[in-house]
Amino acid sequence: MTAQMESPHVVVLGGGLAGVACALGLGDEGVRVTLVDRNDYHQFQPLLYQVATSQLPAEDIARPHRTIFRDYPTVQIRTADVAEIDAGNLTVTLSDGDRITGTHLVVAAGARPEFFGVPGAAEHAFPLYSVVDAERLRRHLQSTLHAGSAAEPEDEGALDVVVVGGGPTGVEIAGALTELMTALVATERIPKPGTITLVDRGSALLAPFSRKSHKYAHKRLTKQGAEPRLGTGVAAVHADRVELDDGSSIRTRTVIWGGGESAASVVGNVAGLTTGRGGRIDVLPDLTVDGLPHVYAVGDVANIPAKDGTILPQLGSVAQQSGAWAAANILRELHGEKAEPFRYKDKGIMAMIGRNAAVAEVGKHRHQVEGPVAFAAWLGVHALLLSGAHSKTDAFLAWGWDYFDRDHAATVEWSATAHRIAWGDDSADIPHIRVDSARPGDGN
Ligand SMILES: Cc1cc2nc3c(=O)[nH]c(=O)nc-3n(C[C@H](O)[C@H](O)[C@H](O)COP(=O)(O)OP(=O)(O)OC[C@H]3O[C@@H](n4cnc5c(N)ncnc54)[C@H](O)[C@@H]3O)c2cc1C
Repeated sequence: MTAQMESPHVVVLGGGLAGVACALGLGDEGVRVTLVDRNDYHQFQPLLYQVATSQLPAEDIARPHRTIFRDYPTVQIRTADVAEIDAGNLTVTLSDGDRITGTHLVVAAGARPEFFGVPGAAEHAFPLYSVVDAERLRRHLQSTLHAGSAAEPEDEGALDVVVVGGGPTGVEIAGALTELMTALVATERIPKPGTITLVDRGSALLAPFSRKSHKYAHKRLTKQGAEPRLGTGVAAVHADRVELDDGSSIRTRTVIWGGGESAASVVGNVAGLTTGRGGRIDVLPDLTVDGLPHVYAVGDVANIPAKDGTILPQLGSVAQQSGAWAAANILRELHGEKAEPFRYKDKGIMAMIGRNAAVAEVGKHRHQVEGPVAFAAWLGVHALLLSGAHSKTDAFLAWGWDYFDRDHAATVEWSATAHRIAWGDDSADIPHIRVDSARPGDGN
């Protein structure tokens, strides 16, 4: 290490895929790190819809930070909300007024749902961005389904769901819900399936994918019973209906919001940073902020330039790799070397539509695969991402195999409870997920 960097101290804001990867990289080399997150656990977003539809219990995708960093004596965890960032002074201010200053600052605060000012959306829609969101939606769905099992004829539509957004989140949750409804009807728990309507302003589902994948997703979802309504926007959300911009409305008590995201709200309180598309922090190719060589922004909170000048997408693999790269660049600097531009190893894009029905586009030329092969690719890539946070890969793989092998959606939805979550015991080394204290949209 160089003389001026005798006692480096890296403050990492956010313990998601990006922040954890960064802290692990630095902790491996004995660098002092303070990781600040409002939650005492890391959450794995790609599996949120499995939690929302009771296919996985929440604690299987939420891993306590203290457990992840148990063998990292130089990594200190601070469970607190960051109210402000002073980038120029490498300082974060916590909501209780405490300040933490480092020699380096890594902003990895992720994103939050963006409701684009649609009236009623923040109040009535269910976003799917955090474990709290997924748990809240799971409980709502369970009570709706139980009520629906005894629904009176005049309560027609009680089980209907509107999913907003035809990207991977919307398509995946819509697919899982159609399967759930079908399984519940087959086992006579509900008289008939609720209608799952998927609304998107665009002309295709899974817009960032190829036309072949658009078609596949549309065909599969329709076959499973969902009703895509493309070229249509949501004008307003009410407790009992959704108004669409073509003048029509749909009766529903369940609106799931997969309609977009923007940078975590704390980025609005940052002195000295430039923000760009999605309110995200613009970074240089080496992931530092222009003019602030000791400030990094990584993962969903950052606009990270790709080699061709475009911005990399908000993906788990981008978050994990950029977090690890920021750590490597800080280590390079500490050893007197130059920071290197981020090189992203593209793992492809993929989405799961249902059991044995996924699409994946992989490799340099985005080779498209679909069906069970794509499902296997999806499982492999996500197991790898999960293992990066030292999470419960075995439970995930067991779920994946079970899902691949047989149809068990009805059983889990009817019986799932969150009994393994630490609701009150603050000393337990399990995630403390507090659902009741949050409103929809509070995730980040
Ligand atoms: C429903 C869904 C499905 C997805 N599916 C896939 C998929 O299949 N494949 C894929 O590659 N990607 C997927 N993604 C994207 C992927 O999950 C994200 O790109 C990735 O998790 C981003 O990681 P991150 O560390 O940047 O942010 P996050 O994981 O959001 O972590 C940010 C952390 O910062 C903390 N934080 C924020 N603000 C504050 C504050 N003020 N004070 C204290 N702490 C704060 C939060 O609590 C959080 O722990 C999905 C995302 C969603 C929402």
